[in-house]
Amino acid sequence: MPTPTPAPVERIAARRAEIGGEVAVDRVLPVRHRRTIGAWCFLDHAGPARFEPGRGMHVGAHPHIGLQTFTWMIEGEVLHRDSLGNVQPIRPGEVNLMTAGNGISHTEDSQPDQRVLHAAQLWIALPPGHDTIAPAFDHYPELPRWRDGGVDFTLLAGSLAGRKAPCRVYSPLVGVDLSCGGAARPSIPLDPAFEHGLLVLEGGATVEGGHFDANELAYLPPGRHALEPALAAGSRALLIGGVPIDHPIVIWWNFVATDKTRITQAQRDWEAGHARFGTVAGREDSRLAAPPLPW
Ligand code: MN
Repeated sequence: MPTPTPAPVERIAARRAEIGGEVAVDRVLPVRHRRTIGAWCFLDHAGPARFEPGRGMHVGAHPHIGLQTFTWMIEGEVLHRDSLGNVQPIRPGEVNLMTAGNGISHTEDSQPDQRVLHAAQLWIALPPGHDTIAPAFDHYPELPRWRDGGVDFTLLAGSLAGRKAPCRVYSPLVGVDLSCGGAARPSIPLDPAFEHGLLVLEGGATVEGGHFDANELAYLPPGRHALEPALAAGSRALLIGGVPIDHPIVIWWNFVATDKTRITQAQRDWEAGHARFGTVAGREDSRLAAPPLPW
């Protein structure tokens, strides 16, 4: 039997979006025709942006359910505060992972002395039954790093090439940062059960004959055993992947759930100041209002 040919690569272009403060972001996921890659259900590329000290990113207190927020810091320093009482700066080369479960709230602020921000901010959908997962916050200052084929690899989540990232996740997935000084063509082993996305953060990449510039994502359907992107000199890219989600998923505002009922309840509870979301000490005055429900 010949090996079936995997479905061809698809192009997803980011669109500009605003978050709190004055850092423009390029939003890659979700888009109408591609809402998730594995359990990764949201992907913002923030910056690279420069600003005056005291400015930068400032996102007031807002709630989450049903997801993990995942921050990969490339340049700059941001202070995370949450309703569990965590106060944690995140610096270049580090990951912050916040598990919302049935409810948490947090703020994110560029540190007062900062002049730059470059980061990837993602969400990971929790599996059905997420109501029973306890809210948590984890900071990962040390991640597996190695160099191969002229590329510096940092494993952000899951497993790759015999390494395993420490990050607490609830479904089979992978996240890896690739950066190169000179032009490079690494060979990256893939799990054929996973779908993948390669987002160019800086520079450019050629993937299976198609060229991708910064803020373009190459979506790779399952069935591949390896990826050999041709990276231009000075490129940085983010590879994410996972087993395609096979359950219903509703994404609205800062909430993810398997059904609208849970989203509706979360919106009402946040507006009512329900204890499930707690308060962020020191930033009580920054509370963001939920938009009206679309249904
Ligand atoms: Mn958030």
